[in-house]
Amino acid sequence: MTRPGAIPPVLRAALDWPSGRCYRHCDRPVRPRRFANALPGTWTVRACPSGVVSVTSYAEWTARNPTADVRRYLARGTVPPRLVRAWDLRLATRRGPELGRAAERFLARARPRRGVRVVYWRVYPFRARDGSERRLFVCFRTRHAGPVFFAADPAKGPAVCPRCGPRPRPRRRAA
Ligand SMILES: [Zn+2]
Ligand SMILES: [Zn+2]
Repeated sequence: MTRPGAIPPVLRAALDWPSGRCYRHCDRPVRPRRFANALPGTWTVRACPSGVVSVTSYAEWTARNPTADVRRYLARGTVPPRLVRAWDLRLATRRGPELGRAAERFLARARPRRGVRVVYWRVYPFRARDGSERRLFVCFRTRHAGPVFFAADPAKGPAVCPRCGPRPRPRRRAA
């Protein structure tokens, strides 16, 4: 049994799209990373090896709008929480055709009718009061239960997570 709202395997395509390269930072590949919390759907953070976030998304198979929950959960893991602003969250609904025929048939048969609703959180580079650039970073170290999001100056070298201190240099890992 899957939890209500969880994304069944036939709808997994809704979670995948080409991630590309880290924009205006290191040009290295951006990789998706999943995490879980009390919400039933699937969270994905797309970030470069240094932790600069391209986009964070939350997908749920549902008829409701999960945006308010998403904002609340993101704010819990973000230092300071006000970095999570309503206008940086965007909701999209996928109803089938773009997910392939199997997904389309599956969604057409399911009752009650619902779609895959995806909330995207995208924070564009911004300027601090002193004019220096800020990017959104994520820390996945296990000293905290979930990922921690924070803003830092990408020109200042490895970003320091406000919850667990300096981040080790990114290591090359076997895939
Ligand atoms: Zn980067
Ligand atoms: Zn950390």
